[in-house]
Amino acid sequence: MSLPKMTYTESYTESYTESSNGILGPTSGAARATPSAVVIGMGVEGGSLARYFLKQGADVTVHHWMPLEELEDDPQLGPQYRELRAAGASFSTGDAYLTGLTRHAVVGILQSAFTYKYPENRAALEEVRDLGIPLVTNLSIFFEQCPAPMIGVTGTNGKSTTTEMVAGILERGSRQVWAGGNLGASPLDVLDDLTPDDLVVLELSNYQLEFLDESPWLAAVTNIAPDHLVDYDGDYKAYKAAKRRIIDFQSRHDWAVLNHDDPITRAWLTACQAQPFPFSRQTTLESGACVRDDRIVVIREDDELRLCQVNALPARGGHNVENALCAAAIGALSGIPGGDIASALLEYAPGEHRLEFVGEWSGIQFWNDSKSTTPASTVAALRAFPGRSLILLAGGRDKGLPWGELARIINEACKEVIVFGEARDTLARAFATPGAELATELTIKKCATLDEAVETAIRDAGVGDIILLSPACTSFDAFDNYAARGRHFKELVSLL
Ligand code: ADP
Repeated sequence: MSLPKMTYTESYTESYTESSNGILGPTSGAARATPSAVVIGMGVEGGSLARYFLKQGADVTVHHWMPLEELEDDPQLGPQYRELRAAGASFSTGDAYLTGLTRHAVVGILQSAFTYKYPENRAALEEVRDLGIPLVTNLSIFFEQCPAPMIGVTGTNGKSTTTEMVAGILERGSRQVWAGGNLGASPLDVLDDLTPDDLVVLELSNYQLEFLDESPWLAAVTNIAPDHLVDYDGDYKAYKAAKRRIIDFQSRHDWAVLNHDDPITRAWLTACQAQPFPFSRQTTLESGACVRDDRIVVIREDDELRLCQVNALPARGGHNVENALCAAAIGALSGIPGGDIASALLEYAPGEHRLEFVGEWSGIQFWNDSKSTTPASTVAALRAFPGRSLILLAGGRDKGLPWGELARIINEACKEVIVFGEARDTLARAFATPGAELATELTIKKCATLDEAVETAIRDAGVGDIILLSPACTSFDAFDNYAARGRHFKELVSLL
């Protein structure tokens, strides 16, 4: 992706100074009394941007691609439309939603603005950028204005889990903690309530990082694997560079908490400006968070925090031990006592659709890992059931990621894989050819839908088997999102 690099203050506040009543007013009398801002798109991010600009006293127009009648009737966006209208926003909807952008002093966009989902955006936004009009996101504004220290968590997989674990740990300390970002609410909505004594924990996606020219005080990366390559013209290097922005702007007073077991982030440990703090499930470290005698320990200078046993962690799988190590490191660097870190990790409630136990029927266990939309997260799910007899349900919409490692692990770990949805032919081909050294005895079945895949799996499963939905693909061929797919899977199981 090639994204604009101008930030809100660079240009927006250059031409508009704060007037005595706190409203941003123009420096030149010829301009409007209040600057005008346009927000393209609604939902969590767009709604939050529009509310922010309205609070600043700007003339706000919200542009949305849906025709007005559809927007009014939309169960999620309809109420937001009415709220923003009542607060003074104007709307431009339907086919013309990308016109008139350059009339405004600032253009607010969503993190998805330059992605393959909205190809029509690109030309209009490039015109805005070329005219020097700032393109801002809710996080670019938040980073500039947040008075509290920020902790950022990124990575290909495990961002939400780790961010939630970190929030649980920090809440045991004396500071007020606010957690969000790519997860849950928009931080701009709470900007006015934050003070320098609070702590903010942000889950950050590669897209959000593209728009940031600042790094958090403490930045953590869980792991890096191919994902979202469609938005980088297939260039994995560019995706990695986007992720690396979380540490790119740090100083030597900051902290970089990085996964020592991942070759990409291990290389970053020796090449970052901030103080590196590794975490590792596989190696005993002299400094960092690691596992010793089956226990999580955090070692820092002469101090050693001995936390909980890894097998007492409530979230299943080695990948969740890595998430817990990352969270424990962040907790320790934030000054939380070891006892509090341990109890928060032990009380962590694993999130829905992330290797979630659904139930047992006729001796068959059902697990829902619908949030797995990459081969790497499905590899992690399969590794969480060593020695068990597994029937994997994988499929949906292909993101064009490499299948090699997953194909090998499936052939080692599964007795059957049922591929479904739009990607079923691609997956069946990939899983049938796991590499020269592995002669496959895997049963591969193809189904059109998830319903058929579940039906087939139940027919084929026996006592002691595990039926695992871990799709490794997006849900967009058949569902609104991964949560709808996971809920549907659980409904099918509940009918048994
Ligand atoms: P993200 O927010 O990065 O998408 P989540 O914590 O929501 O991450 O988990 C998404 C998927 O990745 C789930 O299928 C989950 O089981 C899996 N996962 C979680 N943590 C890891 C990890 N450290 N390594 C690999 N897969 C993981």
